[in-house]
Amino acid sequence: MSDVIVETDRLWVRRAVETLEAEGGRSSDTRLIALPLSGFEGIEFYFKDESAHPTGSLKHRLAQSLIVYGICNGLIGPDTVLVEASSGSTAVSEAYYARLLGLKFYAVLPRSTSASKVEAIREHGGHIHFVDDPAAIYQEAQALAERENGYYLDQFTYAERATDWRGTSNIAACLFEQMAQAGHKDPKWMIMSAGTGGTAATIGRYILYNGLSTKLCVPDPEHSAFFDGWVNCDPDAVFPRGSRIEGIGRPRVEPSFVPNVIDAMVKIPDATSIAAAHVLSGLLGRRVGASTGTNFIGMLWAADQMRRNNERGPIATLICDHGERYADTYYSDTWLDQQGFDIAPAKAMIERSIEIGQMAPDLILGRHEKATPVELANNLCTA
Ligand SMILES: *Cc1c(COP(=O)(O)O)cnc(C)c1O
Repeated sequence: MSDVIVETDRLWVRRAVETLEAEGGRSSDTRLIALPLSGFEGIEFYFKDESAHPTGSLKHRLAQSLIVYGICNGLIGPDTVLVEASSGSTAVSEAYYARLLGLKFYAVLPRSTSASKVEAIREHGGHIHFVDDPAAIYQEAQALAERENGYYLDQFTYAERATDWRGTSNIAACLFEQMAQAGHKDPKWMIMSAGTGGTAATIGRYILYNGLSTKLCVPDPEHSAFFDGWVNCDPDAVFPRGSRIEGIGRPRVEPSFVPNVIDAMVKIPDATSIAAAHVLSGLLGRRVGASTGTNFIGMLWAADQMRRNNERGPIATLICDHGERYADTYYSDTWLDQQGFDIAPAKAMIERSIEIGQMAPDLILGRHEKATPVELANNLCTA
């Protein structure tokens, strides 16, 4: 490589990082919404609205971090083709940032990805490569990157390390700062479901780094390997079916899932997650995605734990994406019928739980806690 090219690359890198940092900074402070649920006495519920990012989900932060990570490891330059394996949201955000930098971008997606996400990727100039088997997206993305002589962003591996969890602008720092401003320095529970696992990892690390007593609960959907993998300390746990809750639940325990920062996990039926998204949408006056419904059930579970222990205080979670993307799926009666989802019973249970301040036990399929830090330290999952 001649010096001239190296210099041009340096200039490109500097401009690219400046562009990404400026763009990330602009959108990092999303709103924190308080939602009173009067049945639960003395417990406050907070939602950080990550649907407000320009690309509509929390993946706006991740896409920026992954591309900065690739550039600063010398792996992305002005002519690099970017490739990602995604269930949709990450690819939407990466397509947005790729275009900002003038880079070509390919998304490798399961064929079941919602049409509006596919459309959004194309609108941002991204190219689509469909695969039939959701578990095959990783290999396909790797192979495509090799054929194109490109760079596989690999969110499932790099989400946890591309995110600057000690920094001041990551999701956890922003959320805890806003909670502190609302008068809650040490919230009781944080609830965050896992797709890559990266956001839960950032929150969990933030809690330990800052010496907080906040507990982290990860609610997991029905078809996902995370719950069993965590309960049994088994990084090789797999789940043969693809998740039906877009954005979360994986067929394998992803490398970005950091087990030892998690205090509790609950397993939640898909119909219940969807019902919870419907109920929460009614309470907020706007639609949220189904993974936010999963988070909401996690919140009800944590609130119920607090009730049993006579505790008071706040619980917080994220609105991961907005529900407009799912008008033809989770919010379509026809689609719900076709998929065999009857959400009415769960909806009634959720509404009743909120009213009386007690979670209906049938809302969850299972739960597991690692009770004390000592127990946790004696029972580390070593991957
Ligand atoms: C990715 C995603 C999540 C989970 O976030 P991770 O940091 O990947 O674990 C939740 N909801 C939606 C809609 C997502 O796209």
